[in-house]
Amino acid sequence: MTNKEFDHDVVVIGAGLSGLYAVYRLRSQGLSVHGFESAEGVGGTWYHNRYPGARCDVESIDYSYSFDDDLQQEWTWSERFATQSEILSYLEHVADRFDLRTHYDFLTRVTSTVYDEDTARWTISTDTGVTTRARFVIMATGVLSATNRPDIPGRDLFEGENYHTGEWPHHEVVFAGKRVGVIGTGSSGIQSIPVIAETAKQVVVFQRSPNYSIPAGNRPLTEEMVADVKANYAERRRLSRESGGGTPNAPYPKGAMEVDEAERKRVYDEWWHRGGYLFAKAFPDQTISREANDTAREYVEAKIREIVKDPAVADLLIPTDHPIGTKRIVTDSGYFETFNRDNVTLVNLRATPIEEITPGGVRTADQEYPLDMLVYATGFDAMTGSLSRIDIRGRAGRTMVEEWSAGPRTYLGLAVNGFPNMFFVTGAGSPSVLANMVLGAEQHIDWIAACIAHVDGHNAATIEAEREAVDSWVAECNAKAASTLFPTANSWYMGANIEGKPRVFMPYIGGFGNYGKICAEVAEAGYKGFAIS
Ligand code: FAD
Ligand code: NAP
Repeated sequence: MTNKEFDHDVVVIGAGLSGLYAVYRLRSQGLSVHGFESAEGVGGTWYHNRYPGARCDVESIDYSYSFDDDLQQEWTWSERFATQSEILSYLEHVADRFDLRTHYDFLTRVTSTVYDEDTARWTISTDTGVTTRARFVIMATGVLSATNRPDIPGRDLFEGENYHTGEWPHHEVVFAGKRVGVIGTGSSGIQSIPVIAETAKQVVVFQRSPNYSIPAGNRPLTEEMVADVKANYAERRRLSRESGGGTPNAPYPKGAMEVDEAERKRVYDEWWHRGGYLFAKAFPDQTISREANDTAREYVEAKIREIVKDPAVADLLIPTDHPIGTKRIVTDSGYFETFNRDNVTLVNLRATPIEEITPGGVRTADQEYPLDMLVYATGFDAMTGSLSRIDIRGRAGRTMVEEWSAGPRTYLGLAVNGFPNMFFVTGAGSPSVLANMVLGAEQHIDWIAACIAHVDGHNAATIEAEREAVDSWVAECNAKAASTLFPTANSWYMGANIEGKPRVFMPYIGGFGNYGKICAEVAEAGYKGFAIS
């Protein structure tokens, strides 16, 4: 076993957009920083999710770093919603521009992080045998990075090509002439199915739950648009930081039930044309009041019926199990139109569940579908999966899995009682996936950097969230969620997609701007709710 017997001030786990910024920010504070990344390169989500059609659903000009004005002025996005490859190129550019790769061990998975109370150090062990010690650990492991490949009987028997959207291979995948099965109709399935259908001989879509999806309205960005954004970037970022969702978009100033039908339709038309998941926020009461939600739901249902020619297929594509917006609305490019193609078949797994995967395809309750390729678009063990796959042990050897057995328990999403000097980026208990995650990561890491400077400035060794602070933050998160319709959906926000996972609404839903203010107030009050010793 190799043992790097030197200490780092900080170890950062993950080289996605959070980890990269953490390395940059903490290094610039004079700290020694080392990173571990299980992949071969940087990019995180955008390294792993190379499936056809993968794009951001927050506009590229917002879904990008704000920390360096030269970077944001010099980089030019080509489309409103950039492709995976463009976003990956951007993150590679950032890594090179700020010399961040040299701090990382790539192809190195962290297997455990163990806290030693006597020395106030974390020992970080990896699957390559490298072990290192650090004063602080930053878990930038991603909330949508631990893939979920459901244990369907016969899963490992399939003899054709077999892929998961979140672990897409680097070689070109050719669909032409092939019979392709896609399991899953969340964002990854809905983005990839239209592209696969363009060339595949046949596509069989195995749908368990239909999802709401709104056309992206994607388009190239013109020089004028880019110049306008760049001239006003500072103001755009300020508005984003104060907003509910980390972008400059704000909902209509009145509730859906406060306006008459004509005004409501006008607003929905406008938001439909803006495109994408923002439709969930056309009216401020849309995910709070069932009555308001029904108006949005009916509007989108009518659109789906307009697009899909076969009424029976349209029926199957319309969700009936959750209020619109309580699962992330998908931002698509031609999804519903795809079901008008002759080479696309929709299989309703609610009526005819998958019984087994066979060597030659998928067998449902009523027939076998012969396939050359199977694509799992079955999502992630979201929010907590990348953490529970690491053996994290805090004070007295208590594991994070034990600590979170009833659901994640954090203070501000940033820290956990019993796990001193360990910080979490954009995870459970923070706005996380409910807001633009680039600005979310910057806000978290700036806060963490200032916190470490505070600890060092007071010659202290440790900072730890107090149990009472965790209890009251968890209660606050639960109360905020309970005041919305979100807990009524079987979503991955609730842990409902993974068998045996506790049913808790995991992100903080009180708004990105409000959350930022709360974090700033805690810091200004001398890190209220944290014990510094
Ligand atoms: P990640 O990008 O997930 O990076 C985490 C890294 O940690 C990974 O590279 C992983 O390999 C590594 N890692 C994990 N565990 C270990 C370990 N034990 N040892 C070593 N390395 C480890 N959010 C938005 O706001 N807007 C969008 O448009 C958007 N689009 C998305 C599209 C897709 C397809 C997906 C899956 C997610 C999307 N998200 C979007 C959410 C997205 O995950 C975040 O925006 C962001 O990329 C997260 O960055 P991160 O660095 O925190 O985590
Ligand atoms: P997801 O939303 O969890 O969707 C997974 C799909 O697989 C669901 O349709 C699910 O059905 C189905 N599924 C899971 N297990 C199954 C089983 N055993 N049998 C049949 N079907 C099964 O995952 P995702 O699509 O990867 O998206 C996750 C999140 O990542 C998104 O919500 C979004 O935040 C982010 N993302 C964003 C974009 C983007 O547009 N920028 C693209 C991709 C992902 P049930 O619903 O019935 O469980």
